[in-house]
Amino acid sequence: MMNIVFLGPPGAGKGTQAKVVCEKLGIPQISTGDMLRSAIANQTETGMKAKTFMDAGQLVPDEVVIALVRERLAQPDCKAGYILDGFPRTVEQAQALQSFAAINAAIDLDVADEVLIKRLSGRRVCPLCGAPYHVDRLNGEKNCKVDGTLLIQRDDDKPETVQNRLAVYHEKTAPLIDFYTQAGLLHSIGGNLTLEEISAAILKVLEAKA
Ligand code: AMP
Repeated sequence: MMNIVFLGPPGAGKGTQAKVVCEKLGIPQISTGDMLRSAIANQTETGMKAKTFMDAGQLVPDEVVIALVRERLAQPDCKAGYILDGFPRTVEQAQALQSFAAINAAIDLDVADEVLIKRLSGRRVCPLCGAPYHVDRLNGEKNCKVDGTLLIQRDDDKPETVQNRLAVYHEKTAPLIDFYTQAGLLHSIGGNLTLEEISAAILKVLEAKA
């Protein structure tokens, strides 16, 4: 059983890598960002609470995301392990997580700010299936290759919000690198690699732990 945390700034490729590794290991990917976006789409109470924070590039309050994750991890499909993608994002969240989960590894995807800004501001996503794209590689194509839906830019990928999200990352989330280093669980993977090289590096770390 592997309970894994993916750290790293917004745009580092956590979601993309989590998807690949989850498929390989047959465990669920738990993305708090996706859960919150679907709560907003369904106009739930959690979604209402989260929306203003997300649109501004701020973190949603700890108690809201902690409750969401605690409930999700209690589902039967998490028994064989999971990847937490985008949680924890504060030391308070990491401490809470310790009280209800046994984490085996924290994978940190380390990417420079200039690269992140370029990636996030050019990112387009399919609002239906969540598939990510980058304008530089779309060659003018406007629809999702999987299901033909018109691609959109996430509100929080707009340039002014991207700057905010990076500042929030450095202030609130980067301290988790120390937190998981002290716990003996941190594995940092450099950003200057291809998608395939990063997946291979992550799987190697996890195989060594299994
Ligand atoms: P993501 O898709 O992971 O980039 O998350 C998008 C947004 O959702 C973030 O900018 C936050 O506003 C919110 N969010 C996602 N995960 C968390 C978390 N663990 N704690 C607080 N806010 C979160």
